[in-house]
Amino acid sequence: MNGDRRYFGAVEAGGTKFVCAIADERGVLHAEARFPTADPASTLAGVSRFLIESSRAIGPLSGIGIGCFGPIHLDKQAAKYGVIGNTPKKGWNNIDIVRALCSPFPCPVGFDTDVNAAALGEHRWGAGKDVGSLLYVTVGTGIGGGVLVEGLPLHGLMHPELGHLYPRRHPADTFPGVCPFHGDCLEGLASGPAIVARCGNELKHLEPGHPQWDLQADYLGQLCAQSVLALSPQRIVMGGGVMTERRLFPLIRQRLLHWLGGYVERNEILDAGEDYVTPAALGERAGVLGCIALAVDAAGAASRRYPTSGP
Ligand code: ZN
Repeated sequence: MNGDRRYFGAVEAGGTKFVCAIADERGVLHAEARFPTADPASTLAGVSRFLIESSRAIGPLSGIGIGCFGPIHLDKQAAKYGVIGNTPKKGWNNIDIVRALCSPFPCPVGFDTDVNAAALGEHRWGAGKDVGSLLYVTVGTGIGGGVLVEGLPLHGLMHPELGHLYPRRHPADTFPGVCPFHGDCLEGLASGPAIVARCGNELKHLEPGHPQWDLQADYLGQLCAQSVLALSPQRIVMGGGVMTERRLFPLIRQRLLHWLGGYVERNEILDAGEDYVTPAALGERAGVLGCIALAVDAAGAASRRYPTSGP
């Protein structure tokens, strides 16, 4: 324990697991734990115990950051702030995750989507350090996109839900899709569960000539192209379980250029594609480190609002 150092709690609430950590404001982890995403009562009890016990051992928390699967209520003025919305994950609809995890702690709380948090993490410590406007895309259990505009997460009416955009269907694809809300949205056609439902196996087990590689690259290339046109990010960082297959990246870059059709003439995209669509530098830790960034920012905002000393 260091008397001068401040410590922050992080909870990345994902579709298959919760990744939790205690870190200092440089992003150095001092404790870490993972809990499977099961029923809310048992998962949240495990996470809560971790936060309480590790902060006792390491030091009091100056802030907590929670990055959660969507949809979530982010409007601080609304009664439902901190609550999970209409998720297909059984039992999690209407769970007040902020209250459940943070009520024992008097510190400020940062709450955002898991993908906005990952975008913040990559912006602070990873592949987006030199740009202000960044898109982070995860492709795993679901597909999600976090958006930073001039370094700040985009919220607006709700928050972006890029995984549920509708791609133009590939002519060779007759699979109906697995999204319970939309069927053949991007998540329905190109998430990890969609690949397994269509091909009977995960992408990493399919031979290089399997048609799924081209389908996958085409759908994700469409997502990148539509995001370039709608959001104008200076970089697209891609992570998540499916994106650990690095051979997808050159295929996606080709399809991005195809779908842009020569309309966008920025050299960042045309010449240096490897930098423009790039793997998450923080890998699996993008989300949890982003939650540390959320916590640090929440503590900073609170101290600016309520100065404890000054002239
Ligand atoms: Zn959908």
